[in-house]
Amino acid sequence: MTNKTLSMNDALYEYLLSVSLRETEVMRRLRAETATDAMARMQSAPEQGQFMALLVQLIGARRCLEVGVYTGYSALWVAQALPPDGRIVACDTSEEWTSIARRYWAEAGVAGRIDLRLAPALATLQGLIDAGQAGSFDFAFIDADKENYANYYEAVLQLLRPGGLMAIDNTLWSGDVADPDKQDADTRAIRELNRQVHADERVAMSLLPVADGLTLALKVKSEV
Ligand code: CA
Repeated sequence: MTNKTLSMNDALYEYLLSVSLRETEVMRRLRAETATDAMARMQSAPEQGQFMALLVQLIGARRCLEVGVYTGYSALWVAQALPPDGRIVACDTSEEWTSIARRYWAEAGVAGRIDLRLAPALATLQGLIDAGQAGSFDFAFIDADKENYANYYEAVLQLLRPGGLMAIDNTLWSGDVADPDKQDADTRAIRELNRQVHADERVAMSLLPVADGLTLALKVKSEV
């Protein structure tokens, strides 16, 4: 017995999925199609998608943000967890990847819940703030270019309502964050974000060792 998080081996991971994962057939096919892409490691882990869908249900989210869509797997989980009038503003810059996403969202019957914005995410987020939508979102998932993580965090925090929840992906970055020899820009950006969130009294937070590290930050104050 240990009070540390278990190291996951393949057998234990397969077991975890076998008694936990409730992936739909459309999700399975999207994951299989994405696995053939050269950037497939950018796809969220299935158990992580399901966990975020649970969080969305837990807080009764209706208005969601996603920063970094890729082929739309996590947005599909979140969209299916929303009530029929729930919406996701989904930010990405890739027409190619999001065309795959749109195909599966349509097949799953949730395309109408996802408002895809093909533009740099910071511009989309600032546009929402400028349009008076600060403090109006319930849930946000950040999983995009790491060098902008601190900027996404600040913009998303403004857009969340008090009690709104943000999830940030890859915050353990394959373990590189704990290796002082790793000093590339992405690793440094994630370390800086981790320090920033940990010290930020505007949020209650926890960094979970789910998949590649998932930080949850709950907005606890209305003024940001
Ligand atoms: Ca990711």
